[in-house]
Amino acid sequence: MSVVPIVTIPNEILNKPTEKVGVAEVTSGEIKQLIQNLLDTVLAAKDPIGAGLAAPQIGVSKRVCVVRRFYQNPENPDEDLTKEYVLINPKIISSSDETVLGIEGCLSVPDTYGNVERAKKIKIKALNEKGEPIRMSESGFMARVIQHEIDHLDGILFTTKITGKTYTEAELDEINKEKEAELVEG
Ligand code: ZN
Repeated sequence: MSVVPIVTIPNEILNKPTEKVGVAEVTSGEIKQLIQNLLDTVLAAKDPIGAGLAAPQIGVSKRVCVVRRFYQNPENPDEDLTKEYVLINPKIISSSDETVLGIEGCLSVPDTYGNVERAKKIKIKALNEKGEPIRMSESGFMARVIQHEIDHLDGILFTTKITGKTYTEAELDEINKEKEAELVEG
């Protein structure tokens, strides 16, 4: 298990488009290690909870990210389960014209939250950790997380897309008090 330090602003790697992973490189030891570090590090982020993590966030400028799906345990409604997806060279192949505003945060931008407009639905293609082509059709929270992570791979931070006010965690907690919402970020 390798939990590695998360790179934060103003580190310039966060503003640089990443390098695509070559066909021969996909199943290399270097990429395997990168994927393991991304998974270990995002799973270790508990406060706030990590919903996704992109390679530049751990200092590697490669087109690789991981995202997590959160769902209720059918046998125990009080328990959240997650499934992690590895996306190598992910590409959005279509996105809905309909957009939604939602609060985002980022493990690389501490104590900063704001509303970001994202496509409501997206279709993507990518390679998984075995180098196999996959496609995903997502909406809601998962679509938002994937768009946030792909932006990281393009060197774009969510802070450049905030609509309206920027909040600190304390301000957001105040707003969310009644909702008991947990902070989840990528
Ligand atoms: Zn982020």
